[in-house]
Amino acid sequence: MYRMNPELTLHQPLPPLTPDNDPWEPLENLKRFGRHALTSVEFTVTNLCNMRCEHCAVGDTLTMREGDKLPLSLLLSRLDEVEQLQTISITGGEPSYSERTVREYIVPILQYARSRGIRSQLNSNVTLDYSRYELIAPYLDVMHISFNYTSADDFHEVGFARSGHSVPRTAAVRMYERMIDNARRLSEAGVLVSAESMINFRTHRRMPEIHRLIKEMGCARHEVHPMYPSAWAGNLPAISKEEMRLAVADLLDTRDPEMWMLFGTLPFYSCSSDVADRELLARLKREPRVTVRNDPDGRNRLNVNLFTGEVFVTDFSDIPAFGNIEEERLDDVFSRWLDHPLSRSVNCHCPAAACCGPNLLVKQMYYEGVDFLKQRAVL
Ligand code: SF4
Repeated sequence: MYRMNPELTLHQPLPPLTPDNDPWEPLENLKRFGRHALTSVEFTVTNLCNMRCEHCAVGDTLTMREGDKLPLSLLLSRLDEVEQLQTISITGGEPSYSERTVREYIVPILQYARSRGIRSQLNSNVTLDYSRYELIAPYLDVMHISFNYTSADDFHEVGFARSGHSVPRTAAVRMYERMIDNARRLSEAGVLVSAESMINFRTHRRMPEIHRLIKEMGCARHEVHPMYPSAWAGNLPAISKEEMRLAVADLLDTRDPEMWMLFGTLPFYSCSSDVADRELLARLKREPRVTVRNDPDGRNRLNVNLFTGEVFVTDFSDIPAFGNIEEERLDDVFSRWLDHPLSRSVNCHCPAAACCGPNLLVKQMYYEGVDFLKQRAVL
């Protein structure tokens, strides 16, 4: 039976999350420890979901029914062993799909995080009844939602594209409205609601309108990532780097300057031979309240599957499980991963550019054959 370390029950006041304080950013570890360190653990707590979005990063793993999870005591013991732990993320499926999962896993994990002074994030579509999120809100730092729509009809088309049966428009509209209402209520309850939009074939010309709706919902942060067609979303059309650059520039031209904008997994690097890439990065650096997060996958974060105990270096790529929490400490799995040739192949660092290398999927997609270890930032 897991017993919480009594010292951990002391709650430490934590500084607010701001563009200058993002504990999910892996570069901070490099500065602090001189090497990558495991500071972030993500749990996949369910494979159930009430939606079937066309772009879902884990769509292949979604099921209609699921088995037993590993005991909570094992998860918390493994977290206790992570010496430099700073953040915990909870993902799915829709993590709040089952109220039992909320009560028996999510709330205790979040309480653990609070007691240890660790920041937390939940990835949710927030389309279920607010009562479920009300249980979570008192212990949660960041509610991360997806928002890629300009209307309820968009939501209907994108959110159920892969459901295998037709979902009535009225049902989708109800969920869309509930999502907006829940996001507002969570912000009012003091949770940082961060809405993520993907730049893809559907959204790349609509980003300013999406941004405006996110602002109207009361979200504190707009997170923007390109969508890379892989796995479940592998059949979706890819857009060019030029179209991505234009979409980012369009957003910067029209955004609300008060809102924190966080860009991530961009396929642009300061060592690029393409001057347009470097100019866009320079602009992103100059803009107030805009941050570009380095890729956390395998740099400061591991993902743990709560059903099998398997540990992954990313939550969606094709790299197989790298260990299992039933057999090994997370810090040990992470050390082994850092020595792996794949990890080494993207382990570059240009301090002047505040960059610690490309995401593995991005490298495969756009930079096959490029040896980043021989590249340097051009500033
Ligand atoms: S850290 Fe790597 S990807 Fe980033 S600018 Fe330097 S060489 Fe390029």
